[in-house]
Parts: sequence; structure tokens; C-alpha cells
Amino acid sequence: MLTDSFGRVHNNLRISVTDRCNLRCTYCMPAEGLDWLPHPEVLTDDEVGRLIEIGVRRLGIREVRFTGGEPLIRRGLVDIVRRTRALDDDLELSVTTNGLGLERMAGALVGAGLDRVNLSLDTLDPTRFRTITRRDRLDDVMRGAKAAHEAGLTPVKVNAVLLRGVNDDEACDLLEWAIAHEYELRFIEQMPLDAQHDWHRDQMVTAEEIFARLEREFTLTPVSEPRGSAPAELFLVDGGPATVGVIASVTRPFCGDCDRVRLTADGQVRNCLFARQESDLRGALRAGATDEELADRWIAAMATKLPGHGINDPSFLQPDRPMSAIGG
Ligand code: SAM
Repeated sequence: MLTDSFGRVHNNLRISVTDRCNLRCTYCMPAEGLDWLPHPEVLTDDEVGRLIEIGVRRLGIREVRFTGGEPLIRRGLVDIVRRTRALDDDLELSVTTNGLGLERMAGALVGAGLDRVNLSLDTLDPTRFRTITRRDRLDDVMRGAKAAHEAGLTPVKVNAVLLRGVNDDEACDLLEWAIAHEYELRFIEQMPLDAQHDWHRDQMVTAEEIFARLEREFTLTPVSEPRGSAPAELFLVDGGPATVGVIASVTRPFCGDCDRVRLTADGQVRNCLFARQESDLRGALRAGATDEELADRWIAAMATKLPGHGINDPSFLQPDRPMSAIGG
């Protein structure tokens, strides 16, 4: 098991399959993109498959989320999903995506054994979409969401980040739209993980503000089921059954219940999104390490996990890798 010194068990793997992205969201990366990982540094499909197998067979991983960068632009994604599904029928498999290309790939992903998708969408307005993502692709995202829903990748969860003065007036519209389409909407507080290091606490739209905006038009009541390790606090909307989630990583951290472990596209284990240290599995793997040795390295990397992400500590330092290079 991937256990840390505080007794947390990590059975939820978020694996980045590429650091590249086809959008350029202003709060994530600069217009020109980033210095992408050189191809030889990125894990091959076989290497990804082997590390997932070690995670599942030896280390108790029960849930695998494929992310990036934009995971749908990884050529081998469908095969990677298929191989992962072949390990165990009961694994929970999902993809976090911006939705571009999802219309084309949803069927193949279902066929490979994917359970569901988390789709990122911050606005319903095409002009705002272009401003936020620096690309004119809102229609493609909408078609992707619909295709995922129709293909059975449900519930389609939609993740939205509200940005002050940009889309923070859209909370209610986004929720109304999500409910009408049977998508589950979750708002994510903006975190200090942008490549430009432009995040400012006083600019961030907080969970409290999100609740205040939503409560102008909807009645929210906390769901009765325990939250467990889920990042989102869930609320019934107008008595249900529709729900809305708020992931308040900054103002209401949930590190004490974290069960997540991250593997970057170049094979580095990160025991926290905000970790400042990584553990290199790729180097060991390519140097001929056995599965047992790789598992031992992975266990050691998790053992040193800190109790919390520390964003609210005066000594907090943003990690060197931005969100897109870690895997959101
Ligand atoms: N490309 C995929 C996507 O768009 O879902 C996966 C990677 S993306 C980095 C994952 C999620 O991280 C997206 O929902 C995005 O909005 C969110 N994100 C990026 N930077 C963020 C930040 N600084 N704070 C909070 N969420 C962020």
C-alpha cells in the first residue's frame, strides 16, 4: 500500500500522459505555450502500462485518472486505457480533458473500458472562451461533452475555474446549463500553479463567493453522504437530485483525507500537487529496475508526504512545475 507517515492510504493515481496542450488558458500558461518535454523523456506506452500495472497489482491503486497537458492528444491513449482496464474490471478509470477531440474519441474510449470524463469548461460565452483559452473552440468542447454523455461516459463532470472580472458572473448560468444537460458541475478555486506565477490570493474567487453567487438563484443543501476523500464538497441544488460541487483547495483544504498520488508524463512520482520534490521512476525503470524495486521507490516517495499543501503558510513556495506539467 502507498501509505504515508500520517496514515493516509493513496489508492487514487492521477497519471499525466503528456505535458502538451492544445489550449492556452491564461491562468495556466503563457500564449506561446511552454518548453514541452523532449520526446525521449516522456514515458512510452509500454512504460506507462508497466508503472500502472505495478500500481494496481502491488500498491493497491483502485482508481486511475488520465490527465495532462491534454490527454486526448496522446496518440496511445486508447490503448493505454485498454491495457489498464485489462488489469482489473473493478478499477475506476476516468480522463480529465478540455473536450477537444472528445466527439471523435468518446466511442473508442468507452470501448477501451473508460468509465467517465471530467471536462474542463469555464464559460458558455464564445468570446470569453476565446479570451480565456486563446482559442476559438467552444463549439468543439460542447460537442465533446454531448458525445461523452451519449457514449455513456457518465456522469460527465464539468470543472470550472472562476476568474475575477472575466467569468465570475457566470456561476449561475453554468449551473443552469449543466443541470439542463445532466452534467455535474464543480467549481475549482484557482490555485498557485500557473506557469507565469501570476496567482494572487486577493484576485482568487473563493468558495464563499461562489456560494454567495449561487445562492442568489438556487438553494444549496449539503448532501448527506460522507465526503470521504473526494476533493469536492457536494450540495443538492433546489433539493436535488442535481448537485453542484465546490473544490476549495485554497480556502478549505482537504489534505487530511487526500488519497491521491501523481505520476508525471516523464515518470516522476509526486506525492502532492504542491510537492517540491519528486521521485524518479523513469530513470530507475530505464536502468533495469525490477517491478519490486520500482514499487519500493514508489512506496518511499509516498512515505515522505507532508501533512498539507502549505498554500496558506507564510513560507509557501509554488512548485517548479506548473499544473499542466504535473497533471491536473
Ligand atoms: N487539459 C485537461 C483539462 O483541461 O481538463 C487536463 C489538464 S488541466 C491542467 C486540468 C484542470 O486544471 C482544468 O480543469 C483546469 O481548468 C485546471 N487548472 C489549471 N490551472 C489551474 C489553476 N491554477 N488553479 C486551478 N485549476 C487549474
